[in-house]
This record gives sequence, C-alpha cells and structure tokens, in this order.
Amino acid sequence: MQFKDLKLIAPILKALDASGYETPTPIQEQAIPIIFQKRDLLGCAQTGTGKTAAFAIPILQMLSYSKEKTAKKQIRALVLTPTRELAIQIHENFNTYSKDLQIRNLVIYGGVGQQPQRDALKKGIDVLIATPGRLLDLYNQGYIDLKSLEFFVLDEADRMLDMGFIHDVKKIINIIPTKRQTLLFSATMPSEIQKLSSHILNDPSKVEVTPESTTAEKIQQSVYFVSKNDKRHLLTHLLEVENIDHALVFSRTKHGADRIVKDLQKKGIQAAAIHGNKSQSARQNALRNFKDRSLKLLVATDIAARGIDIDELANVINFDLPNIPESYVHRIGRTGRAGRDGRAISFCDDEEYAYLMDIEKSIRMEIPVIENHPYSLKIVPKKNGNTAGKAKNEQQKTGSKSSHNKSFQRRPKPKRRD
Ligand code: AMP
Repeated sequence: MQFKDLKLIAPILKALDASGYETPTPIQEQAIPIIFQKRDLLGCAQTGTGKTAAFAIPILQMLSYSKEKTAKKQIRALVLTPTRELAIQIHENFNTYSKDLQIRNLVIYGGVGQQPQRDALKKGIDVLIATPGRLLDLYNQGYIDLKSLEFFVLDEADRMLDMGFIHDVKKIINIIPTKRQTLLFSATMPSEIQKLSSHILNDPSKVEVTPESTTAEKIQQSVYFVSKNDKRHLLTHLLEVENIDHALVFSRTKHGADRIVKDLQKKGIQAAAIHGNKSQSARQNALRNFKDRSLKLLVATDIAARGIDIDELANVINFDLPNIPESYVHRIGRTGRAGRDGRAISFCDDEEYAYLMDIEKSIRMEIPVIENHPYSLKIVPKKNGNTAGKAKNEQQKTGSKSSHNKSFQRRPKPKRRD
C-alpha cells in the first residue's frame, strides 16, 4: 500500500515524502481509514510502530477540511501523553506533517515556566499536545477552553496508569465534550485500561499491530551474566570490542544513572544522564546532543526514556534489568524502529535473574546468553524455584574472551520422575 491509497491530501503527502516515509506502517494502514470514517479507535501498539503518524495524519487532514468554518482558532484536537519527551516528539511530528497546512500546534508540559505556554494559548491553536498535570493546571486557571474539542487522543494509556496519572486523565475526560472522536493507544491492555476504554470509547474499532508484550522481531537480543560490581567494566569492554559508538543505556534508578555517567566520564567516554531529577533544559540538551550524535551514550531511567524517538538508534543496553517485563519491551523498542535493525544487550546479575525469567516468560522466548566475555558470572539457580541463587564470580579478568562458564545452568532442571 502507498500513502496516496489512503486518500491523503497533497500537502500531507508532500510532508511525508520530505520525511523519507515511503510506505505506511501496518498501524497506519489500518488506523487511518478507520479514523477517516469518524470512528473511535482502540490501538494496541507500542512506540516504534509509527502510531504517532497513524493518528496525527488523519486528524490534521480532517481539521484542514473544515478549517474555513472556524474563524477563531479554537482547540479542536487534544493529545494527552504521559511524559514531556513524548509530548515534544508528538508536537514535532504534528509540525512536520502540517508544514503546509494552516494549522497551529502547541505542546504544554510541566517542569518549565507557564508564561510562554499561556501566551501561546492566548494566540489560539488548533491542536494541543499535553501532559495531564500541566493541562489541568492551565485549565483550572482559565487559559484552556476545550468546548470546541472534536478529537481526543489518549496516548500510552498503560503508562499513564503506571505513572499514576489515571486520576488526572479521568478528570480531563470529565471536562471535554462527550460528542467527540476518541482514539486510545496503549502498548499493553491491563484490565484497568480495558475498563477505561469501554467507558470513554464509543463502539471502537480495534487495531492491534503487535501482540501484547512481544518483542520486535528485528531486534537482536542478548544477555550477559555479570556481577553488579563488574557491570561497569563489562560496559566499557563491550563499547570497545563491539565498536559501539552510539547507545541508549538504561539504569533502574536515577542515582544509578548518575553513577554510570560518572564512571564513563572518568574513563574519558562521553555520556550524559536523563532522569526526573535533571532540569528540563539539561534533559533536552542531552537528548539533542544524543540525537545529533555529538553525545555517544545517553543513560536514562525508564520514565525519562519513555517514548524517546531517535532515528536509527542501533543499540540499547540494559545496564540493569527492569523488574517489570513490559518495561523491557518498551526499552528495547527504542531500537529497531520502523523496521530497522537494532540490538538490545542486557546485563543480568544474580539478583536480577528472577527478572530475566519473568521477561522471558512475557516475551515467550529465551534471550541468547553470551558466555564468552571476561566478566562472566556463574549463576546457580535455587533448587526449588526460578529465582537467582548464589552467584559465583569466575573472576577471570585477564581480558581473555574464553568462557569459564561452560557449566552454566540457565534454569533449574526439572525434578526427575522415577
Ligand atoms: P512512533 O511509533 O510514532 O514513535 O514512530 C517511530 C518512528 O518511525 C518515528 O521516527 C517516525 O518518524 C517513523 N515513522 C513513522 N511512520 C513511518 C513510515 N511510514 N515510514 C518511515 N518511518 C516512519
């Protein structure tokens, strides 16, 4: 299928062409015609599938059709998304696709001064992209009028839930017109999201592009067993031997992210961290430098990295394994985007072995173990369970890549039934 088969107008086709998009992604192929039919949509898709364009393109096209009718600029589309980074990215996408349309898009999020956002709102806009807290704040102060809303997009609904925004989301749903077109996107469909979607969607069409918690096929995944203390050595070792010159590194905690950066910088390797304790401008700077490749390594926590879209990101490194399997799927989804190849390397210490088991269960595959590395750790699973037991570090740090881990036992052997 071609974009022109989706009956897109010339200015949008031109913008897509200029962005280098050749053909629609599966979610775009499926969702765009449904949205044009003015139907509500329940989209089960993770980031990296092209879901932003799947909702932005038809909304922009429909807004541009009826634009002449509205003299004053009123908010006619609202996109609600959980993080500032994601909000900024969605805004960039809307701006890209509406380059040749008379449509004004605005993004608002917390952690920055309100005045520029108030001024921009006063000028009048068509599309508002917002995080829930700042939207409610400015709404309560009377700067936002949602009476003319026609389109409501709830993006990353499952993450809204994880981040504790669901009450704000419900408040927002109560202040927008009931007569509207609603599009809800979520990577996973926990029961609370199913409940919410049955409440806010009217006879929705369902579009699902990847089954729940499956990992993108094009991503080459691997896991390295390594002690907590050796992770930093393994990281620098891999950067060198695998010639990794650009990678997004995940840390479970903010403090951990800072420690990784400090250690890398001590070794003369460029790195910066993004997490909730960093100022918005520091986060934006780090992200910009990483995107234009002047920064080699970006170290992020799950929340800060949510939805980050970096063109051609080839490597994701899980310095720590997440304790929630869905976070693993989201993390590795930063690479291998829009059909490109990608690599996801995970470090696993003895305490994280149980997380690995949960992740593998969730993605329904075993992640290949790389045993052949100088910091190889032997993990002895407990006899009666899947959790990690005592770790024995082989302490073979001679730089030799021969494995001392031949007897590694991935899972506890099932008991023999005699
Ligand atoms: P998303 O899932 O919306 O975060 O999109 C992931 C990435 O895919 C972004 O960099 C988009 O610009 C890109 N993208 C979206 N649609 C297409 C397409 N049809 N062809 C090529 N790239 C696309």
